[in-house]
Amino acid sequence: MHLATHTVLVVDDNQDNRDLISRRLQRAGYTVLIAENGPEGLDLVQQGGVDLVILDVMMPGLSGIDVLQIVRKNYSTAELPIIMATAKNQSEDMVEALSHGANDYVTKPLDFPVVLARIEALLRTREASRKRKANTAEETVTFGGIGPNTVLAGKYRLEEVLGAGNFGSVYRATHLDFQQSVAVKVLQAPVDESSETLARFRQEGASAFRLQHPNVVSVLDFSFTGSGVAFLVMELLEGHSLEQEFKRRGSLSPGRCASIVRSIGSALAEAHALGIIHRDIKPANIFLHQSRRGEVVKVLDFGIAKLVDEATMGKHLTLDEGILGTPAYMAPERLSGTHYDGRSDVYSLGVLLYQLLAGCLPFESERNNAMAVAMMHLTTPPRPLAELRPDLPDAVITQVMGMLNKDPSLRPTVADLTPRLSNALELAQEKNDAIDRSGATIVLDTAKIDDNLTDRSSVTQYVAPLPAEDFELAHLLDPPPSFGRIPRIAAPVVAPRELGEVWSLS
Ligand code: ATP
Ligand code: MG
Repeated sequence: MHLATHTVLVVDDNQDNRDLISRRLQRAGYTVLIAENGPEGLDLVQQGGVDLVILDVMMPGLSGIDVLQIVRKNYSTAELPIIMATAKNQSEDMVEALSHGANDYVTKPLDFPVVLARIEALLRTREASRKRKANTAEETVTFGGIGPNTVLAGKYRLEEVLGAGNFGSVYRATHLDFQQSVAVKVLQAPVDESSETLARFRQEGASAFRLQHPNVVSVLDFSFTGSGVAFLVMELLEGHSLEQEFKRRGSLSPGRCASIVRSIGSALAEAHALGIIHRDIKPANIFLHQSRRGEVVKVLDFGIAKLVDEATMGKHLTLDEGILGTPAYMAPERLSGTHYDGRSDVYSLGVLLYQLLAGCLPFESERNNAMAVAMMHLTTPPRPLAELRPDLPDAVITQVMGMLNKDPSLRPTVADLTPRLSNALELAQEKNDAIDRSGATIVLDTAKIDDNLTDRSSVTQYVAPLPAEDFELAHLLDPPPSFGRIPRIAAPVVAPRELGEVWSLS
């Protein structure tokens, strides 16, 4: 192995340190990348090609520990070794760094022969683990041969795959004793039956049974195959997920959001009262079940994130391998690995609602960079929902933005927010319905219309029985696709119709 061809990233806010380390590394034959702060370092890691990171602990803004935790959401210790470098020769710093997934640490002033030896050892381990992984890749894909027609625990015959997510695949299946259709979720991580993990796994699995709620998918069984692969048997739902609904329709009406909030909120309130946290609220885990009596919103995967965390602990599975889930909906306290509780579900629900109402997530990154998104959750205030949906009542905006507070103690509890938010959303819907019925006419002076229709002066005439400020262009019949919303029309302006185009509501 030619260790000298490896690329080492040095993240340090002190220029002298950066220069010194990189000179020594270059002399030893490494390619060196330099970052002056955490965000720069994360960006370089994301661009790929980094084989090892030397990370300073004390940096302004994102500390080395913060950076470490964000990187570990994406890369395991085996994939990307990280050596923490710190002037603080205090054992608790080291313990913290190691507990957050640092591979090793060195103290400043650096003893270079030692640093180089440690780098080399870590790169060798990494190389060996890559080879092992290449050899076992095929085995993991087949999950020990589980697939359609497999009979699990002698009674569940798997049929077609309904979908596959981060944690495993969901099958339509038949309970052979009762000839009843069920859904079986096979969890990816095989569990060592004799281990302590198994006991914890079983205990956690029991929490899925403890929760009986009309808006939570019923869990019928939770067990293991002979080879230690865990599976969860659920009632079979008909319909599709909220994620699919969002992809089809884009933003949803306030009325639709009201019913979704009421259902998820009620499920979460009961769960939180029992001390159960969902941990992975996102549109893919909300199912719009088409029952004989109409649509029922069902929350999927209660506690599954915890189960998988437990099962994979120490196995260094990564986001790439599809285990840790997406940070798009994750609360900052979960991303930073500090204590969390039900309020992190409130945050995730806030992200989900923001997305349903605004049509986009509060934090998105251009290159779909999971670490950049994680960082924004930790440090950036979300773009105010009012800017994207100025038509929504303040009560809705305040509640949704409140759910996105970085500080969990400033977020509303789910029991508190559910009735308020769903009522406010319902009111918003009633208003919209009234506008739709009003047959309003609006006259636009086309000469003044800018692309985004933000220039209110382009509205030259407005005839409607409702207050003008309730009106928005989204309600116009057949607006050209480039037409966005007029934030709000302050007052009706009367002008000759001939001036511009006439848009009217049916
Ligand atoms: P994650 O693993 O992060 O939860 P996911 O939610 O996209 O990701 P799964 O939970 O594995 O993936 O679900 C896969 C598919 O199976 C989804 O389309 C989901 O809607 C569907 N599904 C899950 N449970 C049921 C069920 N009880 N009945 C019918 N379909 C289901
Ligand atoms: Mg799911």
